Amino acid sequence: MTALTERTALVTGASRGIGAAIARRLAAEGAAVAVNYHRNAAAAAEVVDAIAAGGGRAVAIQADVSNLAEATELIKAVQKEFGRLDILVNNAGTTRDNLIMMMKEEDWDEVLATNLKSAWNCAKVAARIMMKQRHGRIINITSVAGVSGNAGQSNYAASKAGMIGLTKSLAKELGPRNITVNAVAPGFVPTDLTQTLIAQIEESILAMTPLKRLGAAEDVAGLVAFLAGEDASFITGQVISVDGGMVL
Ligand code: NAP
Repeated sequence: MTALTERTALVTGASRGIGAAIARRLAAEGAAVAVNYHRNAAAAAEVVDAIAAGGGRAVAIQADVSNLAEATELIKAVQKEFGRLDILVNNAGTTRDNLIMMMKEEDWDEVLATNLKSAWNCAKVAARIMMKQRHGRIINITSVAGVSGNAGQSNYAASKAGMIGLTKSLAKELGPRNITVNAVAPGFVPTDLTQTLIAQIEESILAMTPLKRLGAAEDVAGLVAFLAGEDASFITGQVISVDGGMVL
């Protein structure tokens, strides 16, 4: 028996990058995992197949989580498939970087909806189920940019800082029903999202990072698995960085 046997999880944006690593890790710990994706059905199917090949249980479910109606349908589908929802990982995210003078209104709206409203949407629907269960784990993937800000990312940093406020508020609101709510703040992890940025500034990232390496999606997944498990049952409302010490 592994740490999350008999638990069920939904990971938003789990077709690629960090979300895919989180889905694989939770499944390896024994959870049944719903792999949400937006546009990339083939990549989501690959994650599901890899989990199944390792003896785990997973299902891919399409939804644009920035839309409340779609997020609601997604969580209904998870409940129908698995019968309960113990772990929600709000991971779906995007960037539209630019200096504020050049940033378009739609770049602000898109990033706030994809990163922040999506987390509120899914938490709102999942909370109802978790409250009835008297058990739940909500884990929000924020960013070091949400903690310390970043030039050229006013939209992204604001969305990620918003996730921290959401995390702390929900920790207070849902704690009495045995639901913990925490945020994980990764540093730079090479994925489709960061490919261009990391190529431009890798040297300065490493110079700022005491552990002298970039993060891996698996580093983030390990922390999420810990927060999802019983050993973290008295931890709530926290923002935990997994950034090699970059932001101290
Ligand atoms: P990624 O490789 O670009 O993957 C993004 C994922 O989000 C994809 O699975 C994508 O689905 C999904 N997605 C995007 N919009 C969605 C929507 N509206 N509804 C549902 N799913 C949606 O990104 P990543 O680097 O793994 O980032 C994952 C999370 O970690 C994000 O929240 C990001 O802000 C955060 N983060 C990343 C880093 C980093 O260095 N990589 C650092 C700090 C924080 P499709 O494949 O279907 O498009």
